[in-house]
Formats: sequence, structure tokens, C-alpha cells
Amino acid sequence: MKYLDEINGLIESLSKYQGIGPKTAERLAINTVTKWDSNDIDSFINALKEVKNLKRCKCCGNITKNDICDICNNRCHDKIMVIEDVKDLFAIEKADMYDGVYHILDGVINYQAGITPEDINLESLFLRAKDAKEIIIATNPSVEGEITAQYIKEMLKDYDCSISRIAYGLPVGGQLEYTDSLTLLKALEGRRNIK
Ligand SMILES: [Zn+2]
Repeated sequence: MKYLDEINGLIESLSKYQGIGPKTAERLAINTVTKWDSNDIDSFINALKEVKNLKRCKCCGNITKNDICDICNNRCHDKIMVIEDVKDLFAIEKADMYDGVYHILDGVINYQAGITPEDINLESLFLRAKDAKEIIIATNPSVEGEITAQYIKEMLKDYDCSISRIAYGLPVGGQLEYTDSLTLLKALEGRRNIK
């Protein structure tokens, strides 16, 4: 016996989440139908409607209601911190230690997985870097994060801005978004110039 079309539709939508395979999507869909009441479903529909109006900042890639986010609107663009993911921005903002703007790559270079520099948000960084004094590279301390940092350094070698790489008090393979505020603060303070 097959699932009803309604359930298949929900499974298909849930499968679009990164990291959710068909089996998990199936479990979530069945859970929604069997465990949620209509109020739960209504609030989920409303939450989805709300996020539908959000967009990416045209400058840094942050999530925003307007074309340009509050951070880009209100802060000086001398200092740009390059990060992998929107979640990293929230981790750093929560630590309340940084007063510059960001640039969200939406990934890292991973040649093995077929992700080349053209596949991530790098081109606009090179445009933005022309007006910046310092570029702080805060990609994760993974092999891919390092390769990406080196690539950015190479591409910006003739620019006027200085380039620094944040220090890490966490092991290689660690992730920025799971790092506590104090470690993040130390990582930023201990950044070293790489150009
Ligand atoms: Zn922005």
C-alpha cells in the first residue's frame, strides 16, 4: 500500500532540508499527521508564511527583511569578517565582541565534493574588499576552511587591505557555531596577519 498523495507531498517538501534523508522525512511526515493537532499545523503554516518574506542581504548574505541588513546599514565597512554560514554570524553577534561587517560564503571550497570557488559567494567579496582596510577570515578550522582561507588570501594579495586569520582554541575540525563566546573572543583577539 502506498501513502496518500497528501503525505507524499509532505515527505517531498521535508526532504528538501539539508541533512534530512527520505527515511527521516517519512518519519517526520507521519509524526505530523499522527501526533500534531490542527493548532500545531496552523502555527507551522504561519511560521513558514512568516519566513517566506525574509531575504538575504544583498551586501553580506545575512537574513533580513529588507534588501540590506541592519548590520550593513549601521556599521563601518572597513572591517569585513568572512564566515561560512549565517549561523556563524549569530554565534559571533551573540558573543558581542565584533563591530565590523560580515561576508557569508554559504559554504567552503571542497574540490573533492565538486565545490569550486565559483560555487560559493566569493565574487562579491573581492568587490567589497576594494574598499576595506581589513579582511578577517573566520572559516572553520577544517581542511576545507583552510583551503578557502588560502584561496582568499591568494586572490587578495594585490589589494591594499590587510588580511588576518582568526586563531582557534579549538581542535581542527571544530565548528564556529558550536564554540562558546569566550573561545570566540580569544580567537578574534589572537588573529594573526597572513598578508
Ligand atoms: Zn548585510
